[in-house]
Amino acid sequence: TSAQIGVTGLAVMGRNLARNFARNGYSVAVHNRTAAKTRALVEEFGDEGTFVAAESAEEFVAALERPRRLVIMVKAGDPTDAVIREFAPLLEPGDMIIDGGNAHFADTRRREKELREQGIHFVGTGVSGGEEGALLGPSIMPGGSVESYATLGPMLEKISAKAADGTPCVTHCGPDGAGHFVKMVHNGIEYADMQLIAEAYHLLREVAGYSPAEIADIFRTWNQGRLDSYLIEITAEVLSHVDAATGKPFVDVVQDQAEQKGTGRWTVQIALDLGVPVSGIAEAVFARSLSGHTELREASRGLAGPSVTPLGDAEKAAFADKVEQALYASKIVSYTQGFHEIQAGSEEYDWNIDLGSVAAIWRGGCIIRAAFLDRIRAAYDARADLPSLLADKSFAEEIAAAQDDWRAVLVAATQQGVPTPGFSAALAYYDALRAERLPAALTQGQRDFFGAHTYRRTDREGSFHTLWGGDRSEVPA
Ligand code: NDP
Repeated sequence: TSAQIGVTGLAVMGRNLARNFARNGYSVAVHNRTAAKTRALVEEFGDEGTFVAAESAEEFVAALERPRRLVIMVKAGDPTDAVIREFAPLLEPGDMIIDGGNAHFADTRRREKELREQGIHFVGTGVSGGEEGALLGPSIMPGGSVESYATLGPMLEKISAKAADGTPCVTHCGPDGAGHFVKMVHNGIEYADMQLIAEAYHLLREVAGYSPAEIADIFRTWNQGRLDSYLIEITAEVLSHVDAATGKPFVDVVQDQAEQKGTGRWTVQIALDLGVPVSGIAEAVFARSLSGHTELREASRGLAGPSVTPLGDAEKAAFADKVEQALYASKIVSYTQGFHEIQAGSEEYDWNIDLGSVAAIWRGGCIIRAAFLDRIRAAYDARADLPSLLADKSFAEEIAAAQDDWRAVLVAATQQGVPTPGFSAALAYYDALRAERLPAALTQGQRDFFGAHTYRRTDREGSFHTLWGGDRSEVPA
């Protein structure tokens, strides 16, 4: 039998992706470094479709129909290079290597360039949705050549998640590393979304005094409205879960130290390189880091804070409504920042990424899937060169309606000493962008004072320097 596609790397993701292809009628060659996993897959799930089990790299490659389509689903980083080194010599011009791991887009660019010289299409592909998504339909973000997408695209569309309107959650993001870049920012936005939800929970708990079960109900209500999303839905599930061993709310028995695998950090690192302010995403990454610094937290526990007066019953519900407004407005800002980063990456690397399509393929399958993404797509449909999501009229109107409550929530948070790095960063970004004048003028003055770095004037062209150490006259630079 010749297989239409092959998957190597059969841990949770690869195994489920292979099954997804098979369940959709494709014959799938399967391979794993440790062959026991290959055999286990075929034994357990062989009746789901046509699998061709391959023990060796040679067998695997020989099992694939040409041009070959070979999906790599191994641990990102060196293992991916090792697998490429193993398979590339066995391939022929026109064949495709699809890397579905969480690769750094810079690695993808390097690999694509190297393999292109050999005539092999390297398709760096972001896959979101975790284990379940891989099996039932992930959101898929392929990069690579247009030629590769011509034959690969229809297969990916078949196995992908479908949005509510039936559209497959996959689009050709752009050449070389575009797909992995989009996936990276997706994960950064995911960090921000999670942080904002966590802050909303914290406020409802500490300021309003609601119990986790009550907060779960509040989130369930929010999930009926404009915040309708997978993350809000699972938040309610987690908050209403009771620990079997202690009878306490699950959220009270879990250590409050958030871990991370790195894609959120990459989003911020690259944003720094590109000069894109993604303050909300950065705060989300930092919040996880901070939570893990146990010694630092231990040493700071006695520091003074305000004396807290919990809200009365009458005020609680009104406060919860305000938190919803703050969460929604902050979420708009997170997405604004994330899409700005994609736009900047697209310009830097000539990817020509269609931002509306990116919003569209995140509507299903992935962790940040949400009704909200339809709105973002509509904003870019209305104006493809939208400079910022905040420039979209309907988002601007929603923030206008939310901003008083957003500010009131931050006042309460500050007064009660509840940290809200995500909400606060989002509001600062919003206020900075809309400001008529920023104190950056003063920064320029300081830079010119100590380093003769020069400045530009509001009323004349050119660069200038003030003779700060002399008679303070101005000279053209
Ligand atoms: P892991 O990241 O845990 O990787 C395990 C797989 O990699 C195994 O098949 C293992 O083979 C193989 N492997 C490791 N080192 C090598 C090597 N040097 N040579 C050959 N094979 C090697 O698996 P996951 O399924 O969790 O993830 C796969 C990829 O998908 C990763 O890049 C991950 O970042 C990405 N991803 C994961 C998501 C998730 O929710 N888990 C979501 C989206 C993407 P062996 O069995 O022989 O050890």
